[in-house]
Amino acid sequence: MSELLLDAQDLARHYTVSRGLFRPKATVKALAGVSFTLAAKKTLAVVGESGCGKSTLARQLTLIEPPTRGSLKIDGTDAASADKATLKRLRQRVQMVFQNPFASLNPRKTVATTLAEPLLINAPLSAAERKERVEALAAKVGLRPEHLRRYPHMFSGGQRQRIAIARAMILNPGIVVADEPVSALDVSIQAQILNLFMDLQDEFGTGYVFISHNLSVVEHVADEVMVMYLGAAVEIGEKKRLFAAPLHPYTRALMSATPALRKADRRERIVIHGELPSPLQPPSGCTFHKRCPLAVPRCIAEVPQLREVDGRRVACHVV
Ligand code: SF4
Repeated sequence: MSELLLDAQDLARHYTVSRGLFRPKATVKALAGVSFTLAAKKTLAVVGESGCGKSTLARQLTLIEPPTRGSLKIDGTDAASADKATLKRLRQRVQMVFQNPFASLNPRKTVATTLAEPLLINAPLSAAERKERVEALAAKVGLRPEHLRRYPHMFSGGQRQRIAIARAMILNPGIVVADEPVSALDVSIQAQILNLFMDLQDEFGTGYVFISHNLSVVEHVADEVMVMYLGAAVEIGEKKRLFAAPLHPYTRALMSATPALRKADRRERIVIHGELPSPLQPPSGCTFHKRCPLAVPRCIAEVPQLREVDGRRVACHVV
């Protein structure tokens, strides 16, 4: 069994929001309690529409904000009970790669400075060792030595994302949370960047939490898939099983909307009607019931819990 990097149990994040001067405050359950694990060299893909809680989850995993409920262990250490020094170490273990590499890189810093900075702050290395590490990692992500002296605006989108990936990997973090890391790139470049992620994972044993709305990308990179709807996981399991036979009506609809190259893989299109409900006033029972083609009266009254079905966990009353 590979080393467990992340262990999230019932992780929830609620926000209190104002609804105007004369109305009581409301609670938004941006993350309604998700549980999963991530092992070394594995990729968990998190899938769902915008507003489903993916970004809130990313903020939890990178320890930007504490959970309202539940626990998160990183390398077996509970983040909630960690002291300041331990928290600092845990934060180094989880790094992020963002969707837009241009916005996430400082335009006034050369690539060499951008990559050396985390080492300068966090690693007891000499200047020569830092330089060596920066050059070695730059080469691994496909940058040439002369690139190190250049600034972000001098690169294409794909190369900028290579720089952002190198910056995330420079401290050998163990876990990388990648939030839509290829969706801003040309399709022709996307596969190169995905392959780079996978090569680095092979070499360093990194575990990825890969947030993406693009199921073709997910199919390419994931070992496990967690499908989220309105802050909760509705189906979670091994990628091969989920793609071969999605069970939750929402997963089925998402997958039916993804074009398949092979005729045998094409599915009948299931159209989900209506918008994602407001998290301020989520529907009763199953939060998907107003859009679900299989809804039965029980779905309005009772929240479905995740349960084991056919080798994965699904939250639905009728499957
Ligand atoms: Fe649809 Fe009911 Fe299943 Fe929710 S619990 S997904 S509404 S069938």
